[in-house]
Amino acid sequence: MTWNTVAKCKCDGGGFSLDEFEVSLRPVVMLWPHYSSDAVRRATISDEMEHVLDLSIWGEAERLRAEELESSQQSRIYSTESECAHANRQILEAQMASGFRQAAVRSGRIRHANGGHGHPLP
Ligand SMILES: [Zn+2]
Repeated sequence: MTWNTVAKCKCDGGGFSLDEFEVSLRPVVMLWPHYSSDAVRRATISDEMEHVLDLSIWGEAERLRAEELESSQQSRIYSTESECAHANRQILEAQMASGFRQAAVRSGRIRHANGGHGHPLP
């Protein structure tokens, strides 16, 4: 999963404050260029889609967390627009990175538990 974030700031009397966050998420699946058979290739794609599904669910939850963060950060005033945009984006990126790590570990634990899928080499 990869994402892009933008923190838009607005002029707020004496300075600049966060107006809104924009977040776009895109799933990324890494596949080997060749597999020993089409069946192995199909099975690998199917396994990877299970992680994509888990991380898409995380993405929706993370959007809500970003909205909460947006509300809580809007009262902070920065002296310049770039300072505002940079600082807010850092805060959001840190929150998302930490959430993503937890979601990825969790997805691996669940999907690779007994009876779950493996990751055979090509
Ligand atoms: Zn897996």
